Amino acid sequence: MTVAPNSDSPLCLDLPKLFQKTGSVALAVNWDLGDLSTSYSQAQHLGGEINAETSGEKIVITGKLSLAWEGPCRRCLEITEGVSGLHISEIYEKNATEGETFEIPSTQTLDLKPMLYEQVLLSLPLTPLCSSDCKGPMPEEYPASAINESDDDANSEDRIDPRWEVLGTMTFDEKEEN
Ligand SMILES: [Zn+2]
Repeated sequence: MTVAPNSDSPLCLDLPKLFQKTGSVALAVNWDLGDLSTSYSQAQHLGGEINAETSGEKIVITGKLSLAWEGPCRRCLEITEGVSGLHISEIYEKNATEGETFEIPSTQTLDLKPMLYEQVLLSLPLTPLCSSDCKGPMPEEYPASAINESDDDANSEDRIDPRWEVLGTMTFDEKEEN
């Protein structure tokens, strides 16, 4: 059973209606959240669909959402953007357990935005990267890419100090004499 969300508050559920229904209620999420940010990145938009279903006295919210964000690349500091997937799987109940479930309000409507807000904050990237091979702001002077770092490590094992290379060209023939 799908119910068109109330256009004024598309992320609110009508609780009496929800508990009367069997099956799940789908809610379209199309939310611009330009004011939500951490020190590392800023949320742009949350989109997708979530489902609300009652289970006894509880409400189960599930869904897959896409979070568009932007923030400075951790290597080159250029503003970069990306999309993170959010898997929503939350339970609302009376006498909720803090940190585990959410409280069903005593009012007629359940606003899902505070819960989604929390999920978005947890999903914003802490270390945005413009691309996996970003070489940083000054790749010549300060190579910063992970690929370069690992290459350097690998090569340093095989690299021979040029002052010792001459030893490789020397031959010792005492054994042949003995
Ligand atoms: Zn970068």
